Amino acid sequence: MALTHNLGFPRIGAQRELKKALEAYWRREIDEDRLQTIAGELRKQHWILQRDAGIDLIPVGDFALYDQMLNTTALLGAAPARFNAGSEEIGLDMYFAMARGTPSQSAMEMTKWFDTNYHYIVPEFNADTTFRIASSQLFNEVAEAKALGISPKVVLIGPLTYLYLGKEIEPGFNRLDLLSRLLPIYREILARLASLGVEWVQMDEPLLALDLNDAWLANLDQAYAALKDAGTKLPKLLLATYFEAVDNHAARLKNLPVDGLHIDLCRAPAQLDAFLDDYPTGKVLSLGVIDGRNVWRADLIRALSVLKQAQFVLGERLWVAPSCSLLHCPVNLELESRLEGEIKNWLAFAAQKLSEVSVLGRGLNQGEDAIREKLDASNKARQERRESPRIHNPLMQERLLRLTQQDSARTSPFAVRQTLQRQRFQLPLLPTTTIGSFPQTPEIRQARAAFRKGELGNLQYLEAMRKEIEFAIKKQEEIGLDVLVHGEPERNDMVEYFGEQLWGYAFTENGWVQSYGSRCVKPPILYGDIYRPEPMTVDWIQYAQSQTVKPVKGMLTGPITMLMWSFVRDDQPRSLTALQLALAIRDEVADLERAGIGVIQIDEPAFREGLPLKKADWKEYLQWAVEAFRVSSSGVRDDTQIHTHMCYSEFNDILPAIADMGADVITIETSRSRMELLDGFGQFKYPNEIGPGVYDIHSPRIPETGQMLELLEKACLVINPQQLWVNPDCGLKTRSWPEVVTSLERMVEAARLLRERLEISQTETLPA
Ligand code: GLN
Ligand code: ZN
Repeated sequence: MALTHNLGFPRIGAQRELKKALEAYWRREIDEDRLQTIAGELRKQHWILQRDAGIDLIPVGDFALYDQMLNTTALLGAAPARFNAGSEEIGLDMYFAMARGTPSQSAMEMTKWFDTNYHYIVPEFNADTTFRIASSQLFNEVAEAKALGISPKVVLIGPLTYLYLGKEIEPGFNRLDLLSRLLPIYREILARLASLGVEWVQMDEPLLALDLNDAWLANLDQAYAALKDAGTKLPKLLLATYFEAVDNHAARLKNLPVDGLHIDLCRAPAQLDAFLDDYPTGKVLSLGVIDGRNVWRADLIRALSVLKQAQFVLGERLWVAPSCSLLHCPVNLELESRLEGEIKNWLAFAAQKLSEVSVLGRGLNQGEDAIREKLDASNKARQERRESPRIHNPLMQERLLRLTQQDSARTSPFAVRQTLQRQRFQLPLLPTTTIGSFPQTPEIRQARAAFRKGELGNLQYLEAMRKEIEFAIKKQEEIGLDVLVHGEPERNDMVEYFGEQLWGYAFTENGWVQSYGSRCVKPPILYGDIYRPEPMTVDWIQYAQSQTVKPVKGMLTGPITMLMWSFVRDDQPRSLTALQLALAIRDEVADLERAGIGVIQIDEPAFREGLPLKKADWKEYLQWAVEAFRVSSSGVRDDTQIHTHMCYSEFNDILPAIADMGADVITIETSRSRMELLDGFGQFKYPNEIGPGVYDIHSPRIPETGQMLELLEKACLVINPQQLWVNPDCGLKTRSWPEVVTSLERMVEAARLLRERLEISQTETLPA
């Protein structure tokens, strides 16, 4: 019999119950017992939901109060020394201190989990790192599940992935050296699980989806050899990979001393053959045929035919699963009452995906006829989707046909544009600006919410937002900034705001996905051809411009960020969807220009996160991503200044592509890395103008003028001051007005001081 299983279930709760409980706990409104009770209830609910969906092996250990990597750090007793008060057990306080920091200890770093929008807590390693079992949470959860009659398949982050994703906090230290210390503890954990009656353990080793060097690969064999049961009884191991093809390691993986493998056939369907070929007898092969990274209903007929082909080779040893943990998709479609019925019928969230897995299992075990109805329904939904007039928009198709080569190039080269823009705007040396948003005060949020609920009329809302804009403009003039922004009061989210006005987008009420800790995002669903029926931002920006003689920057979200932060259609290449988004934004840019707006910023904070996991695929991505940005930004006159903004600090490896985007000005995050990033920009000779962020907007600390001046001077060493802008790292929407005003006043002062110094040094070097 083919078994069905799940790799992991979202833990946040269908109504974000975990988020609410966590935040109440952090505010000390509930105590630890209450938090643990709520967490336990959620686990129970989720296990029962999975069992009722018909899943045979249900994951235990996939739950976390904050993050699964942090859970592993706690389980393995690997808390960094600054948190470790020598206690035996890592309790809740220490757990949250590691995640969030305390007044005296800085939090551990957080970074993106592969190419998802989930962020994990990065383990810290040095030569002193030791391991021991320091948390009984996992074992308690196993007991909890057993008490409910759930037969648990325990999920662990594998030892290689755990080490790989950590960082070395000591120069010259190699974290791989810790493996020999780590493995005995894994063995101990496995033995304890075996004694609790756990039969299977899923070892997540997604590192295999990355470009790995030989050292890591060679250690894989050794590591798993050390986790074989010899003498002591250990559970069987299923080594799980996902997010990319691993067929380049097929031979090695098939020979690994484990009892089964899981591979992702949604991201990499072609890898199946390499595994079916000579698959060792006695080993399970789990096939991820239901996409855990998207929200579309599966093509069950196709999935079943793939599975049947595998069943022919594998027989009983075939398992059916989602491609990866369902952590990355929303919980339950049934809660969506406002989605159009037609669109709803195209979708599947975590609960529905598990039903699909279970149906496929039944189809394998009882024959196709047993699931005929389900196959037909899936087929019908897909056909309806293919043919739906909601998806195909002749206006966009026609727009695409009109696209020409010239559309992705500005009229003149940068040097010409720069001269014309300088004549037009007459900005001082080191112009000052901000990234777009100003504080989203409670009043702004209330006004938006009231408007949504219909409690605030159109006119009242318009007036409320205009007041905010007036206020922001007045403040910026007082502060003495050179290029102003309207402040984005009308936007709750930089993607949702545009998605709501474009055709081809749908929105959920509860489609939450965990981003980190208690933070969730609700990505909109891009289901059809994109079309912009009317201008989206022009009125607001024009109003802002009417309040000042200084230039106001129009503010738009770029095509790649729209794409990356949405669930996107799977019926056409992402590159084409990006191009459609680009065309919609291009039209908005043109409308802004026509309305007299001379500076337009197209934000692309998600540009880098679109990079594929494997370097070999980068070139192709960069090519269409850059092209999309160029299409969105090139339809303007030479004297219109295009800005872009990216908020992260690692892009030295893609600098040529960023230069190729051709923005006249790029603003980036640099203050936290103390401008280190600029080395890359200096070496590469970034051709256009650039605004390295001079202060960290994530911190409530108000920066000192001197510190900013110092950073700017550092920047001047690698970048010609003629090319330099002065701005914060990112938007200011999470800050308060008093902080913002003082910080920006000091920033403007720093720019003024540097201008003075530069002018003096210029006169000094003039020949007598
Ligand atoms: N313009 C946006 C803002 O200022 C940019 C946000 C971002 O970079 N993530 O809020
Ligand atoms: Zn930013």
